[in-house]
Amino acid sequence: MTAANGGRAPARWLIMGARPLGGDPADILIEGTTIAAVMPAEAGGADVADDTVTVLDASNLIALPGLVDLHAHLREPGREDAETVASGTAAAALGGFTAIHAMANTEPVADTAGVVEQVWRLGRQAGNCDVRPVGAVTAGLGGAQLAELGAMADSAARVRVFSDDGQCVADATLMRRALEYVKAFDGVIAQHAQEPRLTAGAQVNEGEISARLGLTGWPAVAEEAIVARDCLLAAHVGSAVHICHTSTAGSVEIIRWAKSKGWQVTAEVTPHHLLLTDDLAVGYDPVYKVNPPLRTAADVAALRAALADGTIDCVATDHAPHPAESKETEWSQASFGMTGLETALRVVHEAMVSTGLLDWSGVADRMSVRPAAIGRIGAPAVGLGDQRHGCPIAPGSPANLVLYDPEPIAPVDPTAHVSRSRNTAFAGLKLPGRVVATFLRGRPTVLNGRLAR
Ligand SMILES: [Zn+2]
Repeated sequence: MTAANGGRAPARWLIMGARPLGGDPADILIEGTTIAAVMPAEAGGADVADDTVTVLDASNLIALPGLVDLHAHLREPGREDAETVASGTAAAALGGFTAIHAMANTEPVADTAGVVEQVWRLGRQAGNCDVRPVGAVTAGLGGAQLAELGAMADSAARVRVFSDDGQCVADATLMRRALEYVKAFDGVIAQHAQEPRLTAGAQVNEGEISARLGLTGWPAVAEEAIVARDCLLAAHVGSAVHICHTSTAGSVEIIRWAKSKGWQVTAEVTPHHLLLTDDLAVGYDPVYKVNPPLRTAADVAALRAALADGTIDCVATDHAPHPAESKETEWSQASFGMTGLETALRVVHEAMVSTGLLDWSGVADRMSVRPAAIGRIGAPAVGLGDQRHGCPIAPGSPANLVLYDPEPIAPVDPTAHVSRSRNTAFAGLKLPGRVVATFLRGRPTVLNGRLAR
């Protein structure tokens, strides 16, 4: 054993009997920050058990590459009453994530190298998962002039994903310039597709439910018009656009068409848009108020099918913590958004695996491999070393893993969540599965379903 850390041997873990991607049982040996070996358990397993290795019995647990979230709101700096980088990344680790992208709509806005480096450093200090700051597209999310995209890309945070999320980059000329700008460093513009004039005062999906409740409707076309425009702009410029929280069947059709042209278009869907529908608003409980709004059962079916066939690339949580006073109020006054990091894998299990639409290999692809690639931290990323994510569970990969027990079925209990906010729309809902352990570069962040530190 070579001395890798001040004369001490590197930490070694032997994860016994786990099922990589839901396949046959295997023993996974971790040495230091890296997966050293993956051996079929049937072959008598690994012959490395000695007192220098910590053995973890993972019988019947599914092993997936550490999950990657392209879309989370960590609220720091500025709204630490709702969430901090430390609490949000703890929630992420408990959900099986090893890397998350932190949206730019903080106070101040993450629109300079200084703010994105602050968020990146807070993530390193917390140590729960890697934090990839998303830079704002426009200064102050104001939609009027481009932010310092190049400075953020060149900063220590190495920003590659830019978004005004919460706001749409509505000005077509600005969107075009942003797409042109990020081409130079292989960046991507993540668009919150919401035509502002068509959604002024909108509260719920426009349709039967909005009419019945007397709330201003949010038409599907307000999303689809921007999705179509930005696919065309990305093609025109030869740059990359990513569609945030796709929520309508029509958006799916446009994205499918754009991909058929070979354009650089990717898309995400949230767990809640895969499971919940707009009729939940009939009780006027603002826990179901979210942007974009919950849609119809037909939209949910189209989103599931699109995630299954790869038209939608990945699941992203849009984790949006809010303090109780912002959500426990009348519908029209309440904030948009719901938490999601601690429930995402269980919801995807329910919506996609239990329905036969995805197997565990598919879940690994849609929740780790593809989001890592879109965030420019995927397996082939050059120069990132062991900072890569979405890598195969194979020797030489960074040891980023989640161990998941698919068997238990239990109601979601928000009081057990470590997010500072409790606005989960899944409270009390019976969901399958439990995250048992999460490893970040060979170090457990979660063990036995609890934070490891
Ligand atoms: Zn958004």
